[in-house]
Amino acid sequence: MSPAPDHDAVVIGAGFAGLYMVYRLRQDGFRVLGVEAGDGVGGTWYWNRYPGARCDSESMYYSFSFLPDLEQEWPLEERYPTQPVILRYLQTVAERLDLLKHFVFGARVTSVRFDDQAGHWTVRAGDQLAVTARYVITATGALSAANWPRFPGAGLFEGEQYSTASWPAEPVSLAGQRVGLIGTGSSGVQVLPELARQAQSVTVFQRTAQFVTPARQEPLDPRFVALWKANYQEIRRRTKFTPGGIPIPSPVRSSGELSAAERTALCEEAWRRGGIWFLDGTFSDAVTSQEANAIVAGFVRAKIGEIVTDPATAEKLKPWTHAWGTKRVPVGSDYYETYNRPNVSLVDLRQDPVEEITARGIRTRSGEHPLDVIVYATGFDALTGSIERLRIEGRNGERLEDAWASGPFTYLGLMIPRFPNLFTITGPGSPGVVTNVPVAIEQHVEWIADLLGYAREHGRETIEAEPGAAAEWTAHVQAVANMTLFPTADSWYMGANIPGKPRVFLPYIGGLDVYRHRCDEIAAGGYPGVALSGPAGGLVAVAAPAEVQGTAEAGHDFGLRDRGAGRPVPG
Ligand code: NAP
Repeated sequence: MSPAPDHDAVVIGAGFAGLYMVYRLRQDGFRVLGVEAGDGVGGTWYWNRYPGARCDSESMYYSFSFLPDLEQEWPLEERYPTQPVILRYLQTVAERLDLLKHFVFGARVTSVRFDDQAGHWTVRAGDQLAVTARYVITATGALSAANWPRFPGAGLFEGEQYSTASWPAEPVSLAGQRVGLIGTGSSGVQVLPELARQAQSVTVFQRTAQFVTPARQEPLDPRFVALWKANYQEIRRRTKFTPGGIPIPSPVRSSGELSAAERTALCEEAWRRGGIWFLDGTFSDAVTSQEANAIVAGFVRAKIGEIVTDPATAEKLKPWTHAWGTKRVPVGSDYYETYNRPNVSLVDLRQDPVEEITARGIRTRSGEHPLDVIVYATGFDALTGSIERLRIEGRNGERLEDAWASGPFTYLGLMIPRFPNLFTITGPGSPGVVTNVPVAIEQHVEWIADLLGYAREHGRETIEAEPGAAAEWTAHVQAVANMTLFPTADSWYMGANIPGKPRVFLPYIGGLDVYRHRCDEIAAGGYPGVALSGPAGGLVAVAAPAEVQGTAEAGHDFGLRDRGAGRPVPG
């Protein structure tokens, strides 16, 4: 008989997902170890400490729902929580729940291998750690494997180079510095105004112009906060049944149902409110109809023209390469206004591409831009990168990169055939990254923990997605995306930002409410699509009840056409 593994479960990561997963498994009586590369908790909010970093989900929504005492105590001061506030929140949660003792920090996982004989996993972090566990749960974040483009000559640069995705914890002094910023996604949009306030000059190197929405950051009115807190648990309950994890009404009318004047008034009002109210506040068909989309896109381009005083700069900032909302829409504070500062200039890399990085700056086709500091805000190998970088090997030594060579293959975004007892939180095929993420994380964690409890109760030790179920889910994820304009853009949703990455739509955009319902149905039906095997290794597949079978087939739209599938929301 093989020796028992060191732990029932290893959870990789100590952000929202890792903290809750460790907590929940401990409460359920599993022996659980958390492993985290950083020296503390926080995940995304531990690493992304760049000036201006904050969440695009509003403060009231961006927290756990299962800590009613903490939610009453926690101050809600500004509309959007800043990185230091969120990091402090997660540190507080970890201390309150006494979770730190379950984690090993400063240990970056370098391999995760399934032992077919023993039936358990070995998780290694270099020479630092080697542990065995029956279950492994990746809580590594959808946007945590940073993308550093390899520009020729980058090693020659004599100044400082920083990434927004791993900004130093100690303050970086930019006074008197000539800064170059590469990247104009959400991170670049947030960091630019801060860089411009501190540095002597900022040169922005823009590959793709974005449709940036104003955040309208502001202090929260204490009366509003009091009212919110008095109703918090009821709001949380409703939030769980929304498509995006935020309880705001979705638009009910399509652009075609409105007059030109009504459309403009609606866009103006949504723009005035900012943030999610613009992202999810115009037309029900904004990302499914070319015509509706063109109205929103034209509205934003007109706003850019009104805000940016130099006409040539305004033209470069107007996006024409993709439909509105099909790349994740950045939410910014003073982003376009910052280009009116005399110390900010813009290089359009489509007209004037980077040729090399030199000792003294960045050389584009038109000449050298002398710099003291280069800031990379160049994004992430989204959804798959943070999981594949763990170097996971499943049954018979099969590598996850090989299993996913032509795109990720999952059941519900949570399990992978031939990788038994491995679970992924907010991985590909999950709605996490197109929702207010903590709400999706809670759903994933609870579903996984319930399944582990179910297996234990039934004397089963091995839990594995069936290939047919994964094939249906994977096809369904694509089918729903294909009902929208999302696949038309070169976005990280499509893997298009990483050279060589397969072009498939990565998250599930059918809505968290629909997804939750589907997951609940599966649990209630005895987990169809999941093979459970006993200690002796005999497979015990639980048949799907008739009413559950077939609902995940490719192209089934769960009524999504009527609900305006896949509206862009903060991630
Ligand atoms: P991103 O959206 O992928 O943006 C990366 C930027 O770098 C893009 O402008 C990209 O241009 C550019 N870039 C990449 N490689 C390049 C190259 N070789 N040469 C020139 N430019 C290059 O990454 P991000 O801004 O870090 O944001 C990623 C996601 O994280 C967001 O979409 C969001 O979901 C999340 N996030 C959220 C918040 C928040 O809630 N407030 C803040 C930050 C990030 P292309 O567009 O041409 O690829």
